[in-house]
Amino acid sequence: MVAKQGWRLIQFPNSLVSKVLRARYFRSCSFLDAKPGSNPSFIWRSILWGRQVIQKGARWRIGNGSNILVYKENWIPRPDTFKPISPLTLPIDTTVGEVMDDENNWDVAKLNQHFMQEDTEAILKIPLPRSQKVDEMLWHYDKHGEYSVRSEYQIALKLKAPDEPSSSGSNSKRWKVVWSMELPEKMKIFMWRAARNLLPTAENLWKRKCLKDPICQGCNREVETVRHALLDCKAARKIWYHATSSVQIPNAQNQDILEFIYEVWSTWGKTEAEQAIAFCWAVWFARNKRIFEGKKSDPRASAAKAESLLEAYHRARKPDASHIHNVKRIVQKKWEPPPGNFLKVNVDAGINNRDQVAGLGAVIKDPSGKIVAADTKQVPLREGVSFAEAEAMEWGLQVAKELSLSALIMETDCKEVVDLLNNTKGSRIGISWVISDIQEQRRDFKEVKFRHIPRTCNTCAHSLTKLAVGANTSAVWLDHIPTEILNVLNSVV
Ligand SMILES: [Zn+2]
Repeated sequence: MVAKQGWRLIQFPNSLVSKVLRARYFRSCSFLDAKPGSNPSFIWRSILWGRQVIQKGARWRIGNGSNILVYKENWIPRPDTFKPISPLTLPIDTTVGEVMDDENNWDVAKLNQHFMQEDTEAILKIPLPRSQKVDEMLWHYDKHGEYSVRSEYQIALKLKAPDEPSSSGSNSKRWKVVWSMELPEKMKIFMWRAARNLLPTAENLWKRKCLKDPICQGCNREVETVRHALLDCKAARKIWYHATSSVQIPNAQNQDILEFIYEVWSTWGKTEAEQAIAFCWAVWFARNKRIFEGKKSDPRASAAKAESLLEAYHRARKPDASHIHNVKRIVQKKWEPPPGNFLKVNVDAGINNRDQVAGLGAVIKDPSGKIVAADTKQVPLREGVSFAEAEAMEWGLQVAKELSLSALIMETDCKEVVDLLNNTKGSRIGISWVISDIQEQRRDFKEVKFRHIPRTCNTCAHSLTKLAVGANTSAVWLDHIPTEILNVLNSVV
């Protein structure tokens, strides 16, 4: 969150980062008064960006009042200003200490003289230490005075609340959709900030004159808007590429992130929309890591992180997860055609333990559901079912390559293979070479996605494995698929 780093500067003034920043940017004033300075670093600009939230939520806990300016600083525990509302009758640089007496109590006479009743009453309620203590900054919206992401969010909500009624009807429908999603809190908050254009993108920092130009540091080509950072930048695309869901990013540059999520929701469904938000979150996370820590994240790892966080969240939220899972699976019980530019390859393996053979099957279909190719192959049985399933995947990919297909969605009902291919699990000894072969071959395509699907969606490929187990040959059928094969395939669709 944007305010966190700034809050640390206040809370830990002696930390290394605080010292470095203070020496450079606010040697002679407080952090809250610090200016961007000449040639500010990216980090400093981002911290200043978050400071506005701090200024809305942080206030002084009064020790001796010697550091706090009466009219300029937050010290009266009364949102939203935390400052006196009385007209200025004392010198502008009067400190709070100067409206206290020598015994560290409020100087009631002085208060009555210079402040309106509303202020005086609020000030007299402020507890003071019996002996003099150092003034400290606290976070007003937390009962322990500690800054937290959640409370920052509440502040941000307050800051933005007046805008709410003006938002159009269709927007409020979209918001409802976002809030109805089952997502970790941090992802929801992130989405909210992204859709509100509150992320400190280069464009936003530039608009606030914190940055010299609004150009994206990820590609050095385009203005870094929220949409660019999360969807269009090549750095973002690298992560999206590894999404196991079938969500496509439309090339509609003027579509904002909220519209995008809404479109995903209405086109592909809630699960996909949740995944899309998780991906936006992971993209932003990787972007910050790159900019602030200079660390390049493996896009595959970022993608896996988004998906595993989501999965863990759903698992933890539903003690009865297996049951819910079943319900979902029943909803998606039929094979679904691939989107626009993709072909779908369904693969499966069947085992014959008596003959120690495995039958592999693959069916390739176009977006209209028409069979482009079907193929079978018999192989010796090696490590076990998963191994054969991986071989089926490899075989399917080989056939697709021979057919010069470019964009594929590869589906199997073997979760282990998909997890290994998408790198969410470490590879096992035996199967790993097949996996690395597949990953090698994947490079020959423009795009290949690996997806796990329930068996009920993989019946075509499954029926082919039965043929393959029984026939010691490999076969590929293209346009002219023999009637008996078609009968097998059509009988299960
Ligand atoms: Zn970019």
